[in-house]
Amino acid sequence: MKGRFGLGIYQDLGLRRVVNASGRVTVLGVSAFSDRVAEAAKEGGQSYVVVEDLMRRAGELISRHTGAEDSCPTSCASAAIALTVAALVTRGRWSDMMRLPDSSGLPNEVVLQKGHSINYGAPMATMIRLGGGVPVEAGQANEVRPEDIEEAICGRTVALLYVKSHHCVQKGMVAPEVMRDIAHAHGLPFVMDCAAEEDLRKYIALGADAVMYSGAKAIEATTSGFVTGRADIVANVRRQYAGIGRAMKVGKEQIVGLLAALDQYDARDHEAEAAANEAKVDWLVGAVNGIHGLRAEKVRDEAGRAIYRCRVSLREGAPAGITMQGVNERLRAGDPIVWARTEFLNLGKIDFDPRPMLDGDKELVAERLREIMEA
Ligand SMILES: *Cc1c(COP(=O)(O)O)cnc(C)c1O
Repeated sequence: MKGRFGLGIYQDLGLRRVVNASGRVTVLGVSAFSDRVAEAAKEGGQSYVVVEDLMRRAGELISRHTGAEDSCPTSCASAAIALTVAALVTRGRWSDMMRLPDSSGLPNEVVLQKGHSINYGAPMATMIRLGGGVPVEAGQANEVRPEDIEEAICGRTVALLYVKSHHCVQKGMVAPEVMRDIAHAHGLPFVMDCAAEEDLRKYIALGADAVMYSGAKAIEATTSGFVTGRADIVANVRRQYAGIGRAMKVGKEQIVGLLAALDQYDARDHEAEAAANEAKVDWLVGAVNGIHGLRAEKVRDEAGRAIYRCRVSLREGAPAGITMQGVNERLRAGDPIVWARTEFLNLGKIDFDPRPMLDGDKELVAERLREIMEA
């Protein structure tokens, strides 16, 4: 995409180009949508509609992709979490809705596993509180037992929340099926944050009462999100737009962009995309292993998704005084900026995610690493 002066719209603003080797991350604007999504958003933004009717129709259409009873578009997955909690706390009572986020005196506790109380760029607990909920963390950071969850449930509990994410502690946690059964045995809704998940049907099929997705991550839509699930819960989510949801307004152009991206998502050849991404990783691993002082390996996503990344660390013979922290700083200081994943930087490792890398990016990354190591 060219901006006014032929570079790019962000370069016209005086900003450096960025090579996204990190993934669908908010700090880099999440994803880049297709022309078809852009055209839908343009047309949607240039005309009017009764927004409530659009919301309901979009809910029906989203549900065709998820298999749920109903769905509701939101401005992002974080808003979907906050509004779902708000729906569960207020249960459709108008006066309670009108005083959120103050929920004092109401049942308002949301039980989640301690290893799921993550920071994905903002704290999970904050989104629960934003909806008037009180997060209750069950168990220990690296070990949660079913009885920890059972015993965290009390008369103030409104739901059990499971977070499906690579950010979560993976070992020692209770499986979603077990948490679902505990919730249902207590007559409580079981809700799941699946913001970055690729499978839109799996968790509804598993029996979750509401599932929250991000529109801009796997689906590559306009900035958006949605809640999909039980009709009564989704109806209460929709009502929140007359209350705290107003601060999380979702635009008509965002909603039609999401719908276009969902149609495209189903038509995409996900296996071919995964194979092409894996081939990019293989190329990068080979190229980086040829650079003096660096080691590269192919690693699989921690949440078990079919996503491979190139993990780079120092090898014996690296120039004295060089650290991966230093390498990463130099990557980010350049023009264009090379932005890798740094979740394991404290262990001396950086990861390159092939999915958002454009044509020519992997060659540029290898070249920059070589320059840094040979400087
Ligand atoms: C990205 C993410 C979110 C937030 O999604 P947004 O659409 O950016 O609000 C929530 N939960 C998890 C696990 C995430 O990865």
